[in-house]
Amino acid sequence: MVEEIKISGTIVYSFVNCPREAWLQAHKIIPFQDNELLEMGRLISENAYAREMKKIILDNIEIDLINVKEGNILIGEVKKSSKSKESARLQLLFYMYELKKRGISVNGVLLFPKEKKRVYVKLGEEEIELLDQLIASILDTVTQPYPPKGNPKGCGPCSYREFCQS
Ligand code: SF4
Repeated sequence: MVEEIKISGTIVYSFVNCPREAWLQAHKIIPFQDNELLEMGRLISENAYAREMKKIILDNIEIDLINVKEGNILIGEVKKSSKSKESARLQLLFYMYELKKRGISVNGVLLFPKEKKRVYVKLGEEEIELLDQLIASILDTVTQPYPPKGNPKGCGPCSYREFCQS
């Protein structure tokens, strides 16, 4: 029996950059853990905003930061650079969408500590429609028996580089 594939925020983020990467993650093919990109991402995620950081993992939702003030919940996603801002926005929207499905309304913020930048994100009807379509495309890709070809836009820094190029 094929194990059920669960879409996560990381898979959403990867899919926007490279559907092949999303397929590999969905099939639990883990890149080499000593890769310095992964290490850098981990360090930034663990140390930036340390005072307000509270990592919350709930099923397929993995929130870097949560702040609750006067009944308003703000969740944050930390990234090392704003280069893939749209992928990061969709990842954060995915968490907001999943929480909404569980009856929890939240606001979101993208945090780029190295650039001292914050971008606030709202989940409206338009974003929900976009996510519905995106999730359908991701499911269609990751349930295929083989990974799609590499990134048509070319590979940037990627922790699967050794895997894809061997
Ligand atoms: S190395 Fe390139 S093709 Fe392979 S997963 Fe990364 S971005 Fe995609």
